[in-house]
Amino acid sequence: MNKTLKELQEELKSKKTSVKELVNSYIEVIKSNADINATLGFYSDKLINEQIKKAEELFANGKDTALTGIPIVIKDNIMVKGEKATAASKILENFTATYDATVIKKLKEAGAVMIARANMDEFAMGGSTENSAFGVVKNPHDKSRVAGGSSGGSAAVVSYGGAPISLGSDTGGSIRQPASLCGVVGLKTTYGGVSRYGVMAMGSSLDQIGPFGNSVEDVENVYNIISGYDNLDSTSLTKEERIKEQESGIKKKIGIPRKFIEREGVDKEVLKNFNETIEKLKADGYEIIDVDIKDVEKALSVYYVVVCAEVSSNMARYDGIRYGLSVPDVNVIKGYFKTKTEGFGGEVRRRILLGTYVLSSGYYDAYYNKANLVREMLKKEFAKVFQDVDVIATPTSPIPAFKIGEKSQDPLAMYLADIFTVPVNIVGVPAISVPSGKTDSGLPLGIQFIAPHNREDILFTYGKEVEKI
Ligand code: GLN
Repeated sequence: MNKTLKELQEELKSKKTSVKELVNSYIEVIKSNADINATLGFYSDKLINEQIKKAEELFANGKDTALTGIPIVIKDNIMVKGEKATAASKILENFTATYDATVIKKLKEAGAVMIARANMDEFAMGGSTENSAFGVVKNPHDKSRVAGGSSGGSAAVVSYGGAPISLGSDTGGSIRQPASLCGVVGLKTTYGGVSRYGVMAMGSSLDQIGPFGNSVEDVENVYNIISGYDNLDSTSLTKEERIKEQESGIKKKIGIPRKFIEREGVDKEVLKNFNETIEKLKADGYEIIDVDIKDVEKALSVYYVVVCAEVSSNMARYDGIRYGLSVPDVNVIKGYFKTKTEGFGGEVRRRILLGTYVLSSGYYDAYYNKANLVREMLKKEFAKVFQDVDVIATPTSPIPAFKIGEKSQDPLAMYLADIFTVPVNIVGVPAISVPSGKTDSGLPLGIQFIAPHNREDILFTYGKEVEKI
């Protein structure tokens, strides 16, 4: 059984274990699970020792936080000063971060100990970690299956006990889906709630950083430390903006978009488990309401237009000139092309091409502008539904962990697996995935709760309720 933050804090405070011993014990677990391929390397001894020292000081001065002395694994698209950050891409294979992301700054101040870099889909594009330039992440529950993605490494490492918590990023489901497939808790925060400064941009209007953990309470503790206004992120929400939305209480009403959920392609065991979980909540006094979120299924198409457009723009900076891989040629333009074709994997190139297409003159209105119109419409639809319910519930993923290689040759099938997670990013609201049981063959399943903007508090309440039942 993986230990929670509270249990670890008790061990540290009672001096049953020292911070160093605790950190080393997790490093050993990571080493002995190398075949899962969840991590791409350890952080330098210098950083680890500095943070151990910082944690000891915080304990000595009585200034310790929920994360003091706690080992944490970081998705490899988040910058930690002086350490490698590759986004699991060949193009950044030898890149060293020159500054700390805001979330890292906050973790450092809280006395957390960053121990290892998590494997991921290249630049967070994918849902299985098969797009990593450094090999797929295996699911700890069945090594012939994927751990999900794009934050597959962050989910797997918590699942097998290599770290009590980790950070990931979620642009269209990349925290929630792997959390569900690996049987851990994963939180996608409100857009603007956690600073994006220092995370490598994929789809800038969708990206959010969030935590993985063994319990809802653990994830809540990390959220409390990493969230908050940051003037280095122009989309960051101020405290006033966040509080304004937290005025209403909890109604104990759950909205279920039945038509949306009971669709072709949703696994029978997933549905059964979802319905059983909802029934238990009902027995616990929660009111279940069928809701119709008009056109919610269109979120998937909107997502793949918007994300590709933003990807094509964000990837332009990897030109082999300022940083990253550079494949020179006497002809500058040829060198530029060589850098990109040797540096980027197939999925990244596919999205750059699709994105450039939807942004090209003549198609801009037909695709990109239309997608943004539908996006605005969906925001209003969600707001309407949230007038009557606290949360909208869905299965996190329509299918349990699939076999490695099963979908890697079929990008559309892979994209369809994002059906329940992408609407959340399109609308910018928070959502959590909480383990809700297992399939007959022992694969983890997860339930997703979606709350209005800045209502992570509701997600924690509901998540803890699921843990109880
Ligand atoms: N699977 C989705 C995609 O491929 C989500 C990725 C993400 O959230 N980073 O775009």
